[in-house]
Amino acid sequence: ERKAALASSSGPGSTSDGHRVPLLANVGGPGDVAAAVAAGAEGVGLFRTEFLFLDDSSTAPSEETQVAAYRQVLEAFPEGRVVVRVLDAGADKPLDFLTPDDEPNPALGVRGLRSLLEHPEVLRTQLRALARAVEGLPVHLEVMAPMVADRQDAKAFADACRAAGLPAKFGAMVEIPSAALRARSVLKEVEFLSLGTNDLAQYTFAADRQVGAVARWQDPWQPALLDLVASAAGAARAEAKSCGVCGEAAADPLLACVLTGLGVTSLSMGAASIPYVRATLAKYTVAQCERAAAAARATDSAEAARAAAQAVLSGE
Ligand code: PEP
Ligand code: MG
Repeated sequence: ERKAALASSSGPGSTSDGHRVPLLANVGGPGDVAAAVAAGAEGVGLFRTEFLFLDDSSTAPSEETQVAAYRQVLEAFPEGRVVVRVLDAGADKPLDFLTPDDEPNPALGVRGLRSLLEHPEVLRTQLRALARAVEGLPVHLEVMAPMVADRQDAKAFADACRAAGLPAKFGAMVEIPSAALRARSVLKEVEFLSLGTNDLAQYTFAADRQVGAVARWQDPWQPALLDLVASAAGAARAEAKSCGVCGEAAADPLLACVLTGLGVTSLSMGAASIPYVRATLAKYTVAQCERAAAAARATDSAEAARAAAQAVLSGE
């Protein structure tokens, strides 16, 4: 039955009653593009640009190298949408030329957008490379910053994008609880939000995503995490802007339905998960997804939230 569901799974993401939820791919570079296209991704929801920088972490790649790599990914989705995340260095992704090596707690230190604001020339080069890479292509380019904590961060990033003359929408990743709680204020500066649920879980539960002993807190079904998703998605809806999810949470078919019920407007995941998420989402109405989301949020644990959502969706 599962095979049959997958075989019939193609086309754009949607609930059974036609509520559209674009299904996008997470890619780490040009090498991931073929699988994304084969899975029917409607675009890229998270292009992790770190790969270009990790080859040789002693220096930044040249603008030319960046233009070539970005162009390869942008060309693969002629009419689609490609969301590029600017460099997310630090913590679990340290770079010699950017990341301080004397921080007692790197996950709470200078990482993500914070590194770029301390090294504005690295951000400028990356934005200029993107502006050149997209020239003449019909793709809808969107650019977002990792680790945005507040409106001031969002404004600093939007200002840098405007200064680079980038023909793109500018967005903020919601990975820090402060940004989820005050999403409406972040949205005064940017045009969209994208929830990075891996880091959002890490910072919500004070549980290092790299430490196995605290792995249970990384479970995206935690009701507190669902509350933060609801806060961000609700703010985006009130401002008529989009709010996607690009963390691991989006790859869990049942949770994808719950996220849709919370008001999330697109889901981005590893290409291999797209057919499963598409097939599951197509089985339920948006009202069922909303009821499953409410039932999950009414519980007090990840296990209970999962069971409650499952009960709502299988009982109707
Ligand atoms: C996240 O934190 O959820 C995310 C998508 O970014 P990364 O996993 O690359 O930190
Ligand atoms: Mg992250």
